[in-house]
Amino acid sequence: MSFDSLGLRAELLRAVREQGYETPTPVQARAIPTVLAGRDLLAAAQTGTGKTAGFTLPLLQRLAEQPAARRRLPRALVLVPTRELAAQVAESVQTYGAHLPMRCAVVFGGVGMQPQVDALRRGVDILVATPGRLLDHAGQRTVDLSAVEILVLDEADRMLDMGFIHDIKRVLALLPAKRQNLLFSATFADEIRTLADRLLDRPEHIDVAPRNTAAETVRQQVFRVDRERKAELLARLVHDGDWSQVLVFTRTKHGANRLAEKLDRAGITAAAIHGNKSQGARTRALGDFKSGRIRTLVATEVAARGLDIDGLPHVVNFELPFVPEDYVHRIGRTGRAGAAGHAVSLVCVDEDQLLRQIERLLKRQIPSATVTGFEPDPSIRPEPIVQGGRRGQGPGRGQRGARPSATTPARRAPRPPRRRAG
Ligand code: AMP
Repeated sequence: MSFDSLGLRAELLRAVREQGYETPTPVQARAIPTVLAGRDLLAAAQTGTGKTAGFTLPLLQRLAEQPAARRRLPRALVLVPTRELAAQVAESVQTYGAHLPMRCAVVFGGVGMQPQVDALRRGVDILVATPGRLLDHAGQRTVDLSAVEILVLDEADRMLDMGFIHDIKRVLALLPAKRQNLLFSATFADEIRTLADRLLDRPEHIDVAPRNTAAETVRQQVFRVDRERKAELLARLVHDGDWSQVLVFTRTKHGANRLAEKLDRAGITAAAIHGNKSQGARTRALGDFKSGRIRTLVATEVAARGLDIDGLPHVVNFELPFVPEDYVHRIGRTGRAGAAGHAVSLVCVDEDQLLRQIERLLKRQIPSATVTGFEPDPSIRPEPIVQGGRRGQGPGRGQRGARPSATTPARRAPRPPRRRAG
């Protein structure tokens, strides 16, 4: 199949050609005609599937079909969970819309309001936003959402995980009732289905990425190790395996910082990337990682998501995620075209339950081994893992559902463990 057969106009085909894309990805092949036909869409698609072009291209076309009104109010609204994703989607809109007279603005928290207010005042066709900051603008009447014809919820599962459901509902209340709705999500928990039922009108369903596809093409290994020796083991694995580029996941920002420091001290260049880092620091770390100046990038789930760093040779779960689907997401970052990726999880006795949940989701066991010299001490008892990475306190206190402040970067309130380990 070619892009030409999807019904896209010449300006968009030209932009696609300029990107060097030859054939539409499966999600594009299905989403583009659906959106062009004006239908609602429910799509199961992760980062890396080409989903952004899948909604951006037809959205641009639908807007281009009707000239903008004199007051240039946003006619398409794309809600995303994080500022990184907001910036990336906005960039895609610019790229694919390069030959159309469309204006795009992006609003997210953690940066000043005024430049965003100015952009909105100049007139916008497509607005990409994180929910909290969008509501701030709505509250100050610096955005008018009464002309929105198309709503996109991108990475809807992540938005719900981050506690944005109330914000999303408040945004929905500001939109005209008659509109086209597109919902993209990597996973389909009950909450997403409830939202979809409420939001979508006889949607076309697209499922291009069964939730454990990545898991089947990636070589997965578990190394059993004591919690206090994980950093040392990681340094050893990177060093002995001569790994040149490793993305390491931790659960907490603090843990990411600490680990990056430890690796650096062990002679393995590292940087941490998470929601408390400035945009500049994150961009720099990512650049250094891509260019090979640093070998390891230590990231929290949210920070790593949406970043264009797929296709890595090695991904390490320094700590297992609380949500089993996140494991699939994380390891989906590895695997270069044609080559199997490598995903290593360092699992301590506290994480047995999490590992079992992941294996249940994958419907298989992950081969587990120990490294000589790092055998777990059988006398160490499991301790509950609690939010924030500290032990010995009760589980996370009501963080889920809390709305991140609009002045801080959108970030995810980690889920407390559903069941305590051990
Ligand atoms: P996404 O899933 O939207 O984050 O896109 C993942 C990556 O795939 C991006 O770097 C896109 O530039 C790229 N991409 C999107 N569509 C195509 C296509 N049809 N052919 C090749 N690459 C694509």
